[in-house]
Amino acid sequence: MMKRILMIAVVAALPACATGTAEPGASAGNVPAPTGDVRTGTAAQMAAGTITAAEMREHVAYLASDALRGRDTPSPGLDSAAAYLAREFARLGLQGGVEGGSFIQQYPLRPRNRMAPNVVAVFPGADPTLRNEYVVLSAHMDHVGVGRPVRGDSIYNGADDDASGTSALLEVAEAFASMPQRPARSILFLAVSGEEKGLLGSAYFSDHPTVPISSIVANVNMDMIGRNTRDTVAVIGKDYSSLGEVVQRVAAENRALIGLVAGDDIWPRERFFTRSDHFNFARKEIPAIFFFAGPHEDYHEPSDEVERLDVDKAARVTRLIFLTTHAVATDPQRPQWTAAGLREVRRVTGGGR
Ligand SMILES: [Zn+2]
Repeated sequence: MMKRILMIAVVAALPACATGTAEPGASAGNVPAPTGDVRTGTAAQMAAGTITAAEMREHVAYLASDALRGRDTPSPGLDSAAAYLAREFARLGLQGGVEGGSFIQQYPLRPRNRMAPNVVAVFPGADPTLRNEYVVLSAHMDHVGVGRPVRGDSIYNGADDDASGTSALLEVAEAFASMPQRPARSILFLAVSGEEKGLLGSAYFSDHPTVPISSIVANVNMDMIGRNTRDTVAVIGKDYSSLGEVVQRVAAENRALIGLVAGDDIWPRERFFTRSDHFNFARKEIPAIFFFAGPHEDYHEPSDEVERLDVDKAARVTRLIFLTTHAVATDPQRPQWTAAGLREVRRVTGGGR
C-alpha cells in the first residue's frame, strides 16, 4: 500500500483521525473456522482447502525476511523476491507470461539507467474461446527497503505490506494447479514492483500488457490481507461492479471454508481505491476489486514482520480470492461496472484511457 503522497498531495493538514488504525467493523456470530484439510465439497472447494495458514507463513517468512532487506525498488532483495516467485510459478506448472516464455517483465525506472521487474505467470483456461480472456490477479512484491531505525531495527520487512498478498498469488496458483479441470478463462498472475514508489510496475504493465488489454476481464488485487479483526476483510470497490456480488455470494456460500464477511470501505477519506495496483486497471476501465484487511500500527514500520501477521486470516482471505476468481473465470458473462460505479471510477482516475 502506497503512502498518500501522489494522488492527494493537494489535501493538506488532514485531521489525525484520518490516518488512524480503525479496523473493519467486526460482526458478531461468525466465528471463523481454522484453515485445515478439506475432504469434501465441490472441486473448487477442495482446491480452496489446499490454501493453508502454514504455507502462507512459509512464503511470507521468506519474502519478509531480513535477508531481502525490505525489497526496495530496485534492489538485490527485490530481484530475489522476483526469482522466488518465478521459480514457484514454474514449479506449479504455470507458463511464463512474457514474450519468449519468461516470467520476468523488466521496465525502466527514472532516471533511465535502472530497471525493475514485474513477475507474470499464466494459468491457461480450458475453453477454446474464453481461454483468450484473462482474470488478472495482482499484488506488489516490493516494499520500502531499509530506512530510519526504530528500536534498533532498520529493515522494513513489509510482511503484511505486501508479502501477504504476494504469497496469496502463489497459494491461489497452487489451488488452480491442483484442480482436475481448468476454468474456462485464463488466469494471469502479476507480482509488480515499484508500488511503494507510485504504482510504477502496475502502471507499466497496464500500458504494456503482455496480453491484449481488451482481453483482461477483471483485476483482483490484494494488498495487506493479514491483520485486524479475524472475521472481516474490506473489499474496496465492490459496489462499483458486478464483482462485488460474486465476492458476497462466494463468502456466503463458503462460511466453513472462509469465515469472513466481505466488508465495506470504512476509510473513505484515506482514498484507498487510489492507493494500490488495481487503480491502474480501473484507469483502463477494467472492472477491479481490492482485498484489504485494513491499516494498523505497523504500517510502513520495521515492525511489519511475519510474527505479527494473522496467517490463518490471510489464508482464509486467499480462499475467498481463489473462489471468487474461479467463479469469474468460469462465468460465461464478463464482469460489468455498474453505471454509478463507472462514473465514480472515471472521476477518481481522471477520465479513463
Ligand atoms: Zn505500502
